Amino acid sequence: MFTLRDFMGATQVILPTDEAHGKGMVQLLMNAPLESVVKVTGTVRKRPDGLENKNMNTGAIEILACDFKVLNRCKEILPFHVHDFKEVKEPLRMQYRYLDLRNKKMQHNIRLRSKLANDMRQFLCKHGFVEVETPTLFRKTPGGAREFIVPSQQKGKFYTLPQSPQQFKQLLMVGGIDRYFQFARCYRDEGARIDRQPEFTQVDLEMSFVEQDDILSLTEELIKSAWPEDKGQLQIPFPRMSYSTAIKKYGTDKPDTRFQMLVEDVTECFSKTKIFQSSNDEDKDDFIYKAINIKGGVNHLSNRELKLLEKEAKRRFNYKITIMKMIDNNQFISQISKYLPNDVQKNLSEVMKAEPGDIIILGGGRTFPICSLLGYLRKLVASLLEGKGIKIQDPDAFNFVWVNNFPLFMPKEDCDISLETTHHPFTAPIAEHQDMIYTKPEKVCGQHYDLVLNGFEIAGGSLRIHDEKLQRYVLEDVLKEDASSLEHLLQALQSGCPPHGGIAVGFDRLMAILCGESTIREVIAFPKTGEGNDLMSNAPALISEELLNEYNIQLIDDDNNS
Ligand code: ASP
Repeated sequence: MFTLRDFMGATQVILPTDEAHGKGMVQLLMNAPLESVVKVTGTVRKRPDGLENKNMNTGAIEILACDFKVLNRCKEILPFHVHDFKEVKEPLRMQYRYLDLRNKKMQHNIRLRSKLANDMRQFLCKHGFVEVETPTLFRKTPGGAREFIVPSQQKGKFYTLPQSPQQFKQLLMVGGIDRYFQFARCYRDEGARIDRQPEFTQVDLEMSFVEQDDILSLTEELIKSAWPEDKGQLQIPFPRMSYSTAIKKYGTDKPDTRFQMLVEDVTECFSKTKIFQSSNDEDKDDFIYKAINIKGGVNHLSNRELKLLEKEAKRRFNYKITIMKMIDNNQFISQISKYLPNDVQKNLSEVMKAEPGDIIILGGGRTFPICSLLGYLRKLVASLLEGKGIKIQDPDAFNFVWVNNFPLFMPKEDCDISLETTHHPFTAPIAEHQDMIYTKPEKVCGQHYDLVLNGFEIAGGSLRIHDEKLQRYVLEDVLKEDASSLEHLLQALQSGCPPHGGIAVGFDRLMAILCGESTIREVIAFPKTGEGNDLMSNAPALISEELLNEYNIQLIDDDNNS
């Protein structure tokens, strides 16, 4: 007797016991190590009474074999047992991915991925979308993420791998393919990043003659059409939140709305005190106080953990926070309590709806960094509490929220005077702000929207600029980019370009959340590590001197380089 497994599951096989026939089969079986591929011919029968296995899906039946063949003998020792994959370290799983794929979880994830892709495709085709493949060998154009370059045999000339089919999908609109979609492979060379892949998949869409609402509701319908039944009914439309509300209440443009502990503004409470403010604070007008309330925190968080929060605030944001424990009604214990008059403490506790046993984390500073800090601590505290088994959020909840009304441009990091795009340079301003691009670009709101699920951005898109002059002005005058490599797009915009817009859904991330996985590697058949390595084939790999010469590439020694 043995257990036979295929992709559907496992079942029990009985080999016959008669001398001539059965013995040969048993011998073959004994010589075949686990994971060998076999062919069994036989009859399915009900198991004898009392011998059913309730723990097995097929526990009521068994197969009585009349023939047994070994099609491929597995080697005696595999790097790990398929069943024990949970105990196996990830690099080993990656190295032998073809074995790892055999485990039940990976089978489920990869098959669900395929089903979702198929359902989405059907939905889109039914709604008049045309699937178009766009090139993966493209040219370097300005802006956006860092792209991979691909050498060509033309001396000094390189392709790039596109970070998304953005330009092509807009050019398709000019070309009269008024509803385009593609399961697009995208590439970004952004170095080591936790849970990012250098290559990933987007469900990429573009439509002509649409408004923002059309794209948002189509995306909602698209996700709903493919939503697995066992994950519960999806309520659409999804809620919407402006970028500024997201920053103010959640400290991030990717709000996790599964739990409260919102970032509250308590600036009013400190109108007469100046804690956290020093004489050299750059921007007094933009100095606010923000706080979060950890309900029952006194009982749940140790002093060591609270110290860790202080350290993180310093390390990541260079800000000092104050931890205030409420012991009695309206009275806080903290390092700053003695400087806070009773009425300030009372006011603070009212605004924060604090009760004895709660912990308030308070910080003060400029709006954006202080909101980001409190938003970061909100998530950190939630995961600390969850780690202790304190239920903060429903593990089965899928909280979608649209974030829109983003600023079109943001100050470049470390350089307050230059601007960069919040989304990408093709995003249109809202109609009311169009003229302001020429006067106060930093105040312009863009027609850009992101879809956030449980605190992760799973889709993003925008209505596009379809006017050549405006697009050129944004590229050259606002972003100070050399637009010459985008002449093809600029010319297309002069050639009868319909108004258009679109979105791209990050398929890997959506799948990871659906499958309850914390990393996208668990929903990708052959993933790469955070550093971009394929541990199975050891890509990227060195190439021969000869090939390097063919591509006119000379390697420079690190020593010569320094
Ligand atoms: N191409 C954009 C991105 O990859 C999505 C879009 O604007 O449609 O983020």
